Amino acid sequence: MAATHTTAAPAGELRALAGRHLMTHFGPVTAAGLPIYVRGEGCHVYDDEGSRHLDALSMLFCVNVGHGRAELAEAAAAQARELAYATTWDAVHPPAVALAARIAGLAPGDLNRVFFTSGGSESVETALKLARSYHQLRGDARRVKVIARELAYHGTTAGALSATGLPSVRTPFEPLAPGGCHVPHTDEYRPLPGRDPLWAADAIEQRIAFEGAETVAAVILEPVQNSGGCLVPPDGYFARVREICDRHGVLMISDDTICSWGRLGTWFGGQRFDYVPDVITTAKGMTSAYAPMGAMIVSDRVAETFLAHDASFAHGLTFGGHPVAAAVALANLDVIEREDLLGHVRRHEPGLRGTLEALRDIPIVGDVRGAGYFWGLELVAEPATKRPFAPEVAAEILGFLGPELQRRGLICRAADRGYPVVQLAPPLIAGPEEFAEIGEILRAALSEAATRVAG
Ligand code: PLP
Repeated sequence: MAATHTTAAPAGELRALAGRHLMTHFGPVTAAGLPIYVRGEGCHVYDDEGSRHLDALSMLFCVNVGHGRAELAEAAAAQARELAYATTWDAVHPPAVALAARIAGLAPGDLNRVFFTSGGSESVETALKLARSYHQLRGDARRVKVIARELAYHGTTAGALSATGLPSVRTPFEPLAPGGCHVPHTDEYRPLPGRDPLWAADAIEQRIAFEGAETVAAVILEPVQNSGGCLVPPDGYFARVREICDRHGVLMISDDTICSWGRLGTWFGGQRFDYVPDVITTAKGMTSAYAPMGAMIVSDRVAETFLAHDASFAHGLTFGGHPVAAAVALANLDVIEREDLLGHVRRHEPGLRGTLEALRDIPIVGDVRGAGYFWGLELVAEPATKRPFAPEVAAEILGFLGPELQRRGLICRAADRGYPVVQLAPPLIAGPEEFAEIGEILRAALSEAATRVAG
């Protein structure tokens, strides 16, 4: 593989530069000691010392078609040569138009209008602003609040952060943008006896009543909630939420930043769980991360309000709809369609699930949950009673698992976001061979972790 000027730096020098100059995200202001990945191919990446790692997280839930796709690199190069940049402000360009039309054809229901962004936080930020503008145009200017679920991660920009329900991410930046309200997430692992299975949907209606429906702009929720460890709602949950939103004139925003572009075996979460939101926010797998790009997809019904009032949406981003990213997204969709990756995920989902279910005999594996190629294992002190670990023990286990999985060559996420979980989201091209490797490494690392806490 031809080296570029960055990868040409000797490994030691690169590490020193990372330590001195590169700030990490959600971490220290130095990148000292972190792995340095230099090359990827299919489901694997290689570090600067030549070690091979199985990327069972699609890096960050985003390299959906896998690494090293020359076709996507070439689409970027061809577009950069043809027209490197134009806006989607007071002029447009062919890749943005083609991509918007193509997305409209894939999205559920009447979600036919697309506003491009550079990533998930911007997509959420955009949707929250659109919801306010929509209600203002309809004479409901007091509708500014957004209801989201506890633990949910919706991004880090000021507006998106007020929807994010993770105290560790919110608290350091308080006071936040006003309007964020939170309700319980769905917890199918620890159901309370006698409780209505759709209690968590009804909690949204209770919160709307508490806040006053005339102040609530939107409900935002992920199809499968990432934080908390791939929380899958019970059957009927989204239908009930849809009904509640309609009853109270509240927009339903489906944050599909992770759960789209095949991650659940469908284009969007609504198709997996049979609902049509008013707005979808997305990013990540939209380009399989070969270029940064996100989008907000809006229903005709919502867009009609703007058209009827001849109103602008006073919001924009220089790089929203970037031609190079749009060309990459189109090429990415070509790959997903040509290789039938949605069908591949649906066919192989039981295999991935089975691989993870087989780990239940390890005495710290409590729950295995997820959908498509998006799974989490919740770790508990006692699977029989579902007793959680004391926080310090959870921290100890995760402190061991993170480096251990890395050492064994498995990229996945071992984190405590509400519960200690190990999360997996392999590229959509993964199959039995990769599942076997995932199962083997997880078994070794989790068994060792179990022995440590037992002893
Ligand atoms: N929304 C969800 C559901 C996400 O998972 C993420 C990122 O992981 C975001 C929003 C923010 O996306 P980004 O990091 O691209 O800004």
